Amino acid sequence: MPDYVELHCHSYYSLLDGASALEELVTRAVELGMPALAITDHNAVYGAPRFSQLAKAAGINPIFGAELSLTGNHHLTLLVENEQGWQNLCQLISLAQHNAPKGQAELNLAALSGRTEGLIALSGCRQGEVAQALLNNDEAVALAAATHYRTLFGPDNFWLELQHHLLPEDERLVGDLVDLASSLGLSYVATNNVHYAHRADKLVQDVLICIRHLVSLDEAGPLLRDNSEYYLKSYRQLQPLFRPYPEALTNTLHLAERCHFDLAFGLQDLPQFPTPPGLDARAYLQQLCQGAISHRYSHPSDRIQAQLDHELAVIDQAGLANYFLIVWDIVRYAQAQGILGQGRGSAANSLVAYLLGISPIDPLAHDLVFERFLSKERGVPPDIDLDFQADRREEVIQYVYDRYDHDHAAMACTFVTFRARSASRDIGKVLGLSAMALHQAAEVLREKEANPVIDPGNANAVEILTYVAQQIHGFPRHIGLHNGGMLVTRSPLSRRLPTEPATMDRRVVVQWDKDGLDDVGLIKIDILGLRMLSAIAEATELITALTGQDPRLDRLTFDDPNVFAMIADGDTMGVFQVESRAQAQVIPKLKPATFTDLMITISLIRPGPIQGNMVQPYLRRRLGLEAVTYLHPRLEDALAPTLGVILWQEQVLQVATDLAGFSSGQGELLRRTLGRKHSTTEIELFRSQFLRGAHANGVPETIAAAVFEQLKAFGSYAFAKSHAGSFAVLVYQSAWLKCYYPAIFFVALLNNQPMGFWSPAVLVGDARRHGIAVWPVDIERSQGKCTVEEGNIRLGFNYVTGFGEAHIDLLEQARQVKPFASLKDFCRRTRLPRRLVENLIVAGAMDAWGPRRKLLWALGQLDYREAALDLDLPDNGVELPSLSQAEAMRLEYGVLGLSTGEHIMSQYRTRLTAQGILGSWELESQPNGRQVQVAGLVVVHQSPPTARGFHFITLEDEAGLIDLIIRPQVYERYRRLLRNEPLLVAAGTIQHHQGGVTNLLVKHVMSLSRSKD
Ligand SMILES: [Zn+2]
Ligand SMILES: [Zn+2]
Repeated sequence: MPDYVELHCHSYYSLLDGASALEELVTRAVELGMPALAITDHNAVYGAPRFSQLAKAAGINPIFGAELSLTGNHHLTLLVENEQGWQNLCQLISLAQHNAPKGQAELNLAALSGRTEGLIALSGCRQGEVAQALLNNDEAVALAAATHYRTLFGPDNFWLELQHHLLPEDERLVGDLVDLASSLGLSYVATNNVHYAHRADKLVQDVLICIRHLVSLDEAGPLLRDNSEYYLKSYRQLQPLFRPYPEALTNTLHLAERCHFDLAFGLQDLPQFPTPPGLDARAYLQQLCQGAISHRYSHPSDRIQAQLDHELAVIDQAGLANYFLIVWDIVRYAQAQGILGQGRGSAANSLVAYLLGISPIDPLAHDLVFERFLSKERGVPPDIDLDFQADRREEVIQYVYDRYDHDHAAMACTFVTFRARSASRDIGKVLGLSAMALHQAAEVLREKEANPVIDPGNANAVEILTYVAQQIHGFPRHIGLHNGGMLVTRSPLSRRLPTEPATMDRRVVVQWDKDGLDDVGLIKIDILGLRMLSAIAEATELITALTGQDPRLDRLTFDDPNVFAMIADGDTMGVFQVESRAQAQVIPKLKPATFTDLMITISLIRPGPIQGNMVQPYLRRRLGLEAVTYLHPRLEDALAPTLGVILWQEQVLQVATDLAGFSSGQGELLRRTLGRKHSTTEIELFRSQFLRGAHANGVPETIAAAVFEQLKAFGSYAFAKSHAGSFAVLVYQSAWLKCYYPAIFFVALLNNQPMGFWSPAVLVGDARRHGIAVWPVDIERSQGKCTVEEGNIRLGFNYVTGFGEAHIDLLEQARQVKPFASLKDFCRRTRLPRRLVENLIVAGAMDAWGPRRKLLWALGQLDYREAALDLDLPDNGVELPSLSQAEAMRLEYGVLGLSTGEHIMSQYRTRLTAQGILGSWELESQPNGRQVQVAGLVVVHQSPPTARGFHFITLEDEAGLIDLIIRPQVYERYRRLLRNEPLLVAAGTIQHHQGGVTNLLVKHVMSLSRSKD
């Protein structure tokens, strides 16, 4: 018979004041036979969604609550009795959070009035106002405080809280509280102010407290609790402590029974989108879509109309017409402002989203199925993800805040967690460890899992450190801002869930992260930034400025043979998603020729398929070298488009349906489970369900098991087909730009760094190989950003280290008055800091005024004081040797990150040729298997975890790239050289592959400078 429920319990969501995960606490509560458990973290309900799930799964009643910090450094325990109580709790927490610096909270007592209904208040720990007064022997204050709380909450909802941790004053304090209760006609209840599940967790708790206060264990003193009694205790453990007051324990059950608020929200009430008079949301949505049909299709088929009618009906039934209008409104705003954007992810399955301009692709043209986005079965849609050009995303976010204001719009939070290895530094400080011991511990953590159990009394410091580091791995440390996930609601957000100020100005976050919001069915709109969209927007503007024509990229039809020929040729550097070295190796074999091929390309060359060894089988099938087969005929329907290979999340669903008879809802659950980490147990459950279902369909068990293994291998990595579709649009658009406007394309890429796979230094090399000159920064000709000049690229001041917008403005203003006559004139009129002038000289911006070294020397002679510039240039006729080409290049790299001069390798070419070392252009004509030597500048070095110790290095010379493959044993031999030398000579075997891909399988390596001998 249960006799006690813990009503005051902290989880690790008390952020550095709680040492147990919710999982542990719920498990322990069940072991102790508690029918319910309350979680009362400090000023937060971070863990509420997870707690709700765990408690329900374990068959106990979750009680939501929080321990609030009040002015005067007092604590108050609050429990949620009903919906109204939850709303009040959320508001109180929000008020407390917004009333103090980030990471702290403080509620004014006055804020409680009017916000107590549905809440049960317990008088709190020793820091509670009542207990504090009693400990100070101030009975009058205690009485006044208790009376005040009784008035605020009502006599049935204010309880005196008794805690007994075997501390010297506990006995008396409990007695005093009981006396006070009876004098005021109040009841009392026992709690244990739990901070960890088991007594042994005290060590972890103490370390966390020290990390919180930035002190070592030795210095912590009174910050730590005196003993280890703050764990989850049973009735039998507490009973002797409260022997004189048995009601204190049994009352916990009465209180627990009064609390049954449930967190399962479902879709939030969204703001009502203002529709034109006479039209409700559904009618308006229909009108918009209907209007768009004639705009998008010249001859809309019956199929399109039928699909639209179907989607509108499902959307209406789910009550989501308003939701679509809200998203449409955001997209419309961006369009009106000229901000480039498009939806990604599963929204691309919807024709309505396409018609509204939310998604860029026609789902009917690409066999995308609406039910993957929204079905009657699922009810709540997934979040809609919108990509906007990165440089203007903030405008869109601020629009949403302005439109719905801060009470109705906020961003999801993320929990920044401890990682075992990085945590060890913090823990090391707490334990006062030497650098040596820290290093040892790091080694241990790298090698193996630390002991799951230790005896702190007998363990050495390194053992303690590794143990604690592993214990707190994954603990939330503080909260951060989710990258773009916005939540909007009709009623003020703080009645739904608490909000806090974010570190970033003008931002508000809610106390739940993406998973938490997902779990309770709240949807957000993800407003993400994509640099490629910025580059495309800039390229479009440049085309219009230079040609007077708007290229209308959104109207491209994905069928230009020139564009596909360029991609199939592997000429993809700079193109979205298909430019990496791995892509460049595969694309010439795959030869994409259609939009669907682009979707396949970006989905195939990814860690999942690579790790699952499916890239080569797919390629062999595509090239007709291997028959397309299926493990079972039932798979054909789902896998035919990808030649029998599982490539897309959607296929995981369909295979589960076709082979094992899953409903699409179950299939979706399976897909999500496969995608989440640490879900082994759940996966096993699905596995047996899958095997049973397949058996019922007459599929042999060995085959069903093999298919499930494939799903498992892919499920965690697979790309959504709809997502691939949205991205393929950008692949095509960026490829089109490179194909027809290469100079503009490279300029746009250079102005939106960092992005993509290749550094600017390599991009300018590619530009040159396309016949585009890259001209240095020039004091008269350059602009703030890189520009197209006579069809070539002129670097902008943005590439000179140290140049900010203010400097560029200064320079341009002075230049507008009249051209600069000399270095002296330049310095006098711009007064730029000497360091920047130096950088300009080194970058070649002042080459017109003389050799760089001479200019640097002259600058050094200037008396360069801020106020009075005495700018006489003494010319005492010192003759300085010019910079060598190599010196100039090294200096240019220093301030620009690239060089506009001749490629460094051309300086070595005569010697290399004499030595029989080949250039990149000579490799294709070499017979397969020939031993050759090559040389170049290292531009990429990869050793992906999927490659089992192989290293891939790309060298660049004046004419192109050379791909090296280095076996693990060869890498070991040359490790130091390969890691540190920028210029290499490599000897090895030529390997030609289909599609004109050539690699060198390396046997020996040396540094180019040593190759002379
Ligand atoms: Zn407290
Ligand atoms: Zn507490």
